[in-house]
Amino acid sequence: MADDKTLGRSLAPGPGPAPGAEREAGRPDQRGHAPALAREEPVGDAAVPRLELASWRERFGIVAGITTRGRDFSLGLWSEESVAQVMTRWRAVRTTFRPRFPGLVLAHQVHGTSVAWHAGGAEGWLIGDGQDGHATEARGLLLTVTVADCIPLYLTVPGRPLVALLHAGWRGTAGGILARGVELLARHAAVGPADIIMHCGVGICGACYEVGSEVIDKLGATPAAIGPGVRAGPRGSAHADLRALLAGQAAALGLGAVSVSPWCSAHDRAQFFSHRASGGRDGRMIAYLGLPLA
Ligand SMILES: [Zn+2]
Repeated sequence: MADDKTLGRSLAPGPGPAPGAEREAGRPDQRGHAPALAREEPVGDAAVPRLELASWRERFGIVAGITTRGRDFSLGLWSEESVAQVMTRWRAVRTTFRPRFPGLVLAHQVHGTSVAWHAGGAEGWLIGDGQDGHATEARGLLLTVTVADCIPLYLTVPGRPLVALLHAGWRGTAGGILARGVELLARHAAVGPADIIMHCGVGICGACYEVGSEVIDKLGATPAAIGPGVRAGPRGSAHADLRALLAGQAAALGLGAVSVSPWCSAHDRAQFFSHRASGGRDGRMIAYLGLPLA
């Protein structure tokens, strides 16, 4: 595929979210540039049901994806489900990725803005606490975040072995986790925002995500002055399109390019887990990103 724009145009309507979600995801950001659409595609592997970005694999040699619901393939460790069942699925993830990724990073997430730098060289499970993002230049280290409506943000620098994966719900979006991730890459890898490209992955769309006044305030909009990515709803409520907000932040930070997934976790519950659409009862997916061993 030649570039993200070509990819975006070539996307045919098909299974997936309602057409409205695609329009939502492709809405122009505050500078008037519409982020390209980039659709994650199924990987034929029954052991670990998942979707990946073919364009990042082909262009950059990067593994960027997300697990799907499959036959109840929840990976939520900090949930009410039996740890033994969840760990069986995590072991399937390890087995699938181990030849290319001897190390796997995960953390207990807190909807914060802390992003960890991983120097690499480590093997096995690397389990952190209190981080909602990870970055590395190391090959063979698979970064993961758990999601079920929140947006996974995939960052890389074309031509450089460098990746960052962030977990952005409304709190992370309002708190500026994207800016924190970009700062971390500047500090550890000496790259500027314009060098960085970002993909906003599978998550809840604006039509499915009604939020109250507290969230609207934190996201920097008010019902009287709805900002980019926040639309007025009935009774003082509003709908927030986190990916549109994050694409707007990326444009303001000066990132080189942004693409957005057309998939909505709540529109398509046959495929994904959705915290919101399930009333909080659903499992968790993991988004993952890494530079495989050559
Ligand atoms: Zn939706």
